[in-house]
Amino acid sequence: MANPVILSVDDDPAVSRAVARDLRRRYGDRYRVVRASSGPEALEALREVKLRGEQAALLLADYRMPEMTGIEFLEAAMDLFPAARRVLLTAYADTGAAIDAINLVDLDHYLLKPWHPPEEKLYPVVDALLEAWSATPDAGATEIRVVGHRWSAESFAVRDFLARNLVPYRWLLVDDPEAGRLLAAAGVTANDVPLVVTADGKALVAPTEAELAALVGLTVAPAADFYDLVVVGGGPAGLGAAVYGASEGLRTVLVERLATGGQAGQSSRIENYLGFPDGVSGAQLTDRARRQALKFGAELLSTREVVGLEEAGSARLLRFSDGQTLAAHAVVLATGVSYRMLDAPGLADFAGRGVFYGSAASEAPSCVGAEVYIVGGANSAGQAAMYFCRYAQRVHLLIRGADLTASMSRYLIDQLDRVDQVTVHPYTEVTAGAGDEHLQRLTLRDTRTGEQREVDASWLFVFIGAEPRTGWLDGTLVRDDRGFVVTGPDLVASGRRPPGWSLPRDPYHLESSVPGVFAAGDVRAESVKRVASAVGEGAMAVSLVHRYLEAQ
Ligand SMILES: Cc1cc2nc3c(=O)[nH]c(=O)nc-3n(C[C@H](O)[C@H](O)[C@H](O)COP(=O)(O)OP(=O)(O)OC[C@H]3O[C@@H](n4cnc5c(N)ncnc54)[C@H](O)[C@@H]3O)c2cc1C
Repeated sequence: MANPVILSVDDDPAVSRAVARDLRRRYGDRYRVVRASSGPEALEALREVKLRGEQAALLLADYRMPEMTGIEFLEAAMDLFPAARRVLLTAYADTGAAIDAINLVDLDHYLLKPWHPPEEKLYPVVDALLEAWSATPDAGATEIRVVGHRWSAESFAVRDFLARNLVPYRWLLVDDPEAGRLLAAAGVTANDVPLVVTADGKALVAPTEAELAALVGLTVAPAADFYDLVVVGGGPAGLGAAVYGASEGLRTVLVERLATGGQAGQSSRIENYLGFPDGVSGAQLTDRARRQALKFGAELLSTREVVGLEEAGSARLLRFSDGQTLAAHAVVLATGVSYRMLDAPGLADFAGRGVFYGSAASEAPSCVGAEVYIVGGANSAGQAAMYFCRYAQRVHLLIRGADLTASMSRYLIDQLDRVDQVTVHPYTEVTAGAGDEHLQRLTLRDTRTGEQREVDASWLFVFIGAEPRTGWLDGTLVRDDRGFVVTGPDLVASGRRPPGWSLPRDPYHLESSVPGVFAAGDVRAESVKRVASAVGEGAMAVSLVHRYLEAQ
């Protein structure tokens, strides 16, 4: 497989040579650096890359070029390589144009010329962008290959798991000749898929999540049976707690049901997290947090679901779904929330076969040229619409209300207004889904008139709010009527401490009704449902864990 391409385009030959030289020096062993002197020439080069079946990872374009501006080039290049990262090279005077381009062509970064020394100004940016690109399915035209049926929920589950864990893979439909060769080599038939084949030729048929985790080198078993701190849930709150816990000397293990990242890992672009003025993909942000936690010595377990919590003297005992247990002095519950299912006849049958909850970014490349339906009017739906319109022919955003203003941030509404492919359908709800092997039709209802109409639809992405999955805490600690964990002062009703509370003090701020068990992030009652607050609460929970342990 040829190395992926980094393409730079600048009409000034001296600058063009300098960019290519700096890029080759650092990336030449893993990437093929291509340079062009105009937008049309660069597009031609990209077409060739496409025809050869190669990948483009990064595009750097000068803003001011005579025939075609850098922004126009990047916009056109998106049709060929939507997942390639995009950088605009600008002079200081053009910063305004570069900022506009962030919305127009979903620019990843703009670099002010000159960028010397590259070690400080160019490479850190390019490193981060290449790392982000490596997590896209395009980059996965490499190592792991997954063979499956397009409309198979089992195949989707495998791809979704790999994508959430940022494991690049190549997706092959069963009727692809290469898939046929792999099936034959593994001694199985098209009825046995999904088939996963690793770079070193190991084949797994219909693997479980735990098997997949082991295959791609994720840790599934704890190294010890007693810790200072167990964090349950690997979203921003849990990762925050793991980073602070481990960095402050607590023996910390984080247990995650599926893949670290949580809801944030599903976000195509988080624009309101402090310190990222150009936005950051949720996968990139949470992958960095994961590596940070590992660096400080936290253990991260994937594909392990916690299903029980008990007090055992001063220890807190957590039970996994397979019956194994793990004990600790203190626990941070950071289990977040899960998507609410859309309750309309026929839809349940198509989950993973045309109906998807959350962003399911792994499906985006399969939506090329298709009509995509998104249900929901909040930011997560808006982000998904912006993301899917890079691939789909048209994105239909179905909302019950009159418009988006009540539920979506202004910046996203503005972005949606600027793209032609997104149509917002007000006063619209989905009342049914139908199809044979996969979703093929939706019935939509006008909530004002009650009038129903049927549309052809193979892709439905649902973002209709979320709820905590805390049923496993029944009878253990106090939750509100929607299942969120009640903490701190909210537990002390009219001066009375919660039932069963044994200590001569009130619960600390994020402490639940069981001493030493804290809640952080979206799962906590009255929490602000944001990445920043989840991370903040994870950090704060650790400082309260210290206070709790000191008093023991
Ligand atoms: C598509 C999308 C876009 C968003 N965009 C933004 C944005 O731009 N800005 C912003 O501020 N916020 C955004 N949010 C909201 C933000 O992502 C959440 O507020 C944040 O992720 C909450 O973090 P958390 O750690 O509390 O929970 P979560 O992110 O929900 O993570 C909880 C984790 O716990 C795991 N878990 C659950 N139960 C168990 C169990 N029993 N055992 C083991 N593990 C378990 C789950 O698998 C999950 O990984 C977005 C959300 C979505 C879905």
